[in-house]
Amino acid sequence: MPSWPNSNETSDDDDEYMSEFSSMQMEYFQTPDTVIDPSFCGLVTESDRRCILHRQRAGKFMAFEGTDTGRRFIGCATEDGVNCGVLEWVDAPWPVILQRCLSKLWNMYHEQNLGRAQDNEAHGIEVAKLQKELASLANQYSQLVDDVSKLFDYQDGIKSHDMDCTSQAINELKEMKKQLEEQAKIELQMGKLKLKKEQRCILQSQADIIQNTRKAMKELEVEKDLLKEEKKKLENVIVELLKVGHGCKEKLDKIKEVVMEE
Ligand SMILES: [Zn+2]
Repeated sequence: MPSWPNSNETSDDDDEYMSEFSSMQMEYFQTPDTVIDPSFCGLVTESDRRCILHRQRAGKFMAFEGTDTGRRFIGCATEDGVNCGVLEWVDAPWPVILQRCLSKLWNMYHEQNLGRAQDNEAHGIEVAKLQKELASLANQYSQLVDDVSKLFDYQDGIKSHDMDCTSQAINELKEMKKQLEEQAKIELQMGKLKLKKEQRCILQSQADIIQNTRKAMKELEVEKDLLKEEKKKLENVIVELLKVGHGCKEKLDKIKEVVMEE
């Protein structure tokens, strides 16, 4: 014989309880779902009715399940662990037609719930798929952004390379221009120097000519003086000869004429 709480207190109650327990149908042992009905709720206060397993004060409930929907009952009030079920139905079972209708309505409700669950599952799969696609697109997008930025960097590099080439070419041209200018300057200076040299040569040759001319003139003058002296000597010779009186006067005149011609 199993021992229950309070079993030592009242052995008569125990017997009553056991007979009640064994006579209970198993379907009543499971408490149906309930709904709160303000007109029939709380613990039973009208009697000292207690539940089968816990021997606790029973509660007032309204079923909300299947063909019993809306039926009031007195049952186990425990909220933790095993509920020991219905003690007594307050309302008699509903008429069969109403039971069928309730059954149909609950079936519809469960079908709809199932459909909703299936839809939810399908939606979940779809959402997962879309999230995967989104992640893939985000990946592609970031890849694209990377590529574009790389492209821009590359173009910038080319541009700067072009700029480098251009500035290098400009520098080379400047260098060439400078060299040409310097060459031209040198040539100009050379030309000036050449000109000066030629001028100096001309001046030098002029000076030479003048000097030579002067020299020649001086020599001529010396010669002239010599000739004058010679002439004087000859005149003196003639005078001496004339004084001596020789008859060759005519010849002497001729010599004189010759001397005078000089
Ligand atoms: Zn109980």
